Amino acid sequence: MLPLPAVDSRRGAGQGSRMLNVPSQSFPGPSSQQRVASGGRSKVPLKQGRSLMDWIRLTKSGKDLTGLKGRLIEVTEEELKKHNKKDDCWICIRGFVYNVSPYMEYHPGGEEELMRAAGSDGTDLFDQVHRWVNYESMLKECLVGRMAIKPALPKDYREEKKVLNGMLPKSQVTDTLAREGPSSPSYDWFQTDSLVTIVVYTKQKDINLGSITVDHQGDSFRVETIIKDYSYLIHIGLSHEIQEDFSVQVVENVGKIEIVLKKKESTTWKSLGCPLENHNSLLPKKDTDLYYRKCQLISKEDVTHDTKLFSVMLPPSTHLQVPVGQHVYLKLTIAGTEIVKPYTPVSDSLVPEFKEPVLPNSKYIYFLIKIYPAGLFTPELDLLQIGDYVSVSNPEGSFKISQVQEMEDLFLLAAGTGFTPMVKVLHYALTDIPSLRKVKLMFFNKTEDDIIWRSQLEKLALKDKRFDVEFVLSAPPSEWSGKQGYISPALLSEFLKKSLEKSKVLICICGPTPFTEQGMKLLHDLNFSKDEIHSFTA
Ligand code: FAD
Ligand code: NAP
Repeated sequence: MLPLPAVDSRRGAGQGSRMLNVPSQSFPGPSSQQRVASGGRSKVPLKQGRSLMDWIRLTKSGKDLTGLKGRLIEVTEEELKKHNKKDDCWICIRGFVYNVSPYMEYHPGGEEELMRAAGSDGTDLFDQVHRWVNYESMLKECLVGRMAIKPALPKDYREEKKVLNGMLPKSQVTDTLAREGPSSPSYDWFQTDSLVTIVVYTKQKDINLGSITVDHQGDSFRVETIIKDYSYLIHIGLSHEIQEDFSVQVVENVGKIEIVLKKKESTTWKSLGCPLENHNSLLPKKDTDLYYRKCQLISKEDVTHDTKLFSVMLPPSTHLQVPVGQHVYLKLTIAGTEIVKPYTPVSDSLVPEFKEPVLPNSKYIYFLIKIYPAGLFTPELDLLQIGDYVSVSNPEGSFKISQVQEMEDLFLLAAGTGFTPMVKVLHYALTDIPSLRKVKLMFFNKTEDDIIWRSQLEKLALKDKRFDVEFVLSAPPSEWSGKQGYISPALLSEFLKKSLEKSKVLICICGPTPFTEQGMKLLHDLNFSKDEIHSFTA
């Protein structure tokens, strides 16, 4: 028997449905987020009884899904190539081979999409489409075995297991990375009677507290620093025990990070500890796994009839700040399968009058989440009681703060919960950009009841002359005197008036995928350049 790939892991399943028996004929509806996945990939209507929940049920039924009666085999390349038909389709992902034929009809991206990798290594294709989907958990009953010759994997840390005694080992930076990526970061450590300080030298100026995530879980001490599009990881099994909390400081102008740990006992450490997986590696961020920690649900408050403000608390042994415009993944185990969905943290409020009373900012993360009664993930999330746990990943996303930095006019186009990334962008713009003259939000919703934080937005517009908000309703009541309809050239050309002819402009857009795609097309038609537009997608 071959060892199974780790199933614990940090990826989770993607979109799915809870409508177990009677999916709507027209699913996904024309404007449904289910129709198009990230990157414009079309989703196909799933047949009745082929939702993600149905798949989970099938995998638990004990049916032999590989045709190998539970045996795991070594697969040669020649063998893999032979299994390239719909009813006999094997795909290799990260060295492990899966028989995906039974999954074909359940795949939200459709059979054709899966067939693109039939009989071959689908790792790259998979990573392009949905890196965060927990295929190990989803496809564990389809595992055929592993490739006879393993493809190149990140270097096994055990090969160079040695004690970290304060010397600076050379980073595991490949030649290509050294040429293309940031100059090689390094680290050092020193100690006093009571403290151990780990110093990371990033050699980059644009490092801040949001660039670093630190976790101490069990035997693993992990510091991940995002340097441009790369992830520099320090991953150590500490040689001695430390207290739960630690401090993280950044000397921004030299890109130096200091993590100060408190020793449990004031003995002298002979070494920092042992290197763990991928320790001291610099890898493209897109090639790294998501890392999760369990966060406690602290509060849950109604915001609209279907949207709630959730606040979760990070463990004391975690440092994590979600940068403006980025999202995280939340993970829950639903019917024995890990399900992961992306969510964009917000601030607790837009104006101080609505602020949460006591919570210190750095340990809490807030989410505005719409509960879809027939959805897979959100009803389960809504069932969590205060004090329950949900796993939260490291931040991700392509938005860069530098995009707003010298901005003069900022236009925000949001539909429904597409408002969430705008919250921090708006706050950052109004508080941190001296050049800013104007921020306008056009907020599309179906009815007045669907508008998130309406009174906060109106209050903010009254308080800050630079900010203006317009609500557009697609199904307004007869007495509605505001704007109505869908995103259109007429609405946009009136809305996107610059404060000065040559103003530096950024337009951010987010909402259901078809809304965002249509908006992007209209913005290009209005001659805004790519650099002037940021669309939030997965
Ligand atoms: P799903 O199971 O995906 O269902 C969604 C809808 O489709 C429901 O209305 C459901 O009824 C319908 N449906 C599903 N299957 C069927 C079927 N077979 N037949 C008919 N109808 C069906 N959302 C937020 O609320 N807040 C955020 O901050 C946020 N941030 C995001 C950030 C990013 C980068 C992205 C990509 C998305 C974000 N989302 C956010 C959306 C979020 O990730 C989920 O897609 C959303 O919460 C729905 O999840 P779900 O599993 O509950 O619903
Ligand atoms: P919703 O209530 O269904 O829609 C909001 C408004 O947009 C409604 O007025 C709706 O009109 C309109 N609309 C929907 N589809 C449209 C289209 N094709 N063209 C023009 N207008 C359209 O929205 P929601 O349920 O809150 O969903 C929000 C979406 O944003 C989700 O898909 C979520 O994944 C996405 N999101 C993405 C991110 C990110 O960072 N990528 C962050 C947060 C949310 P009607 O209802 O009348 O059709």
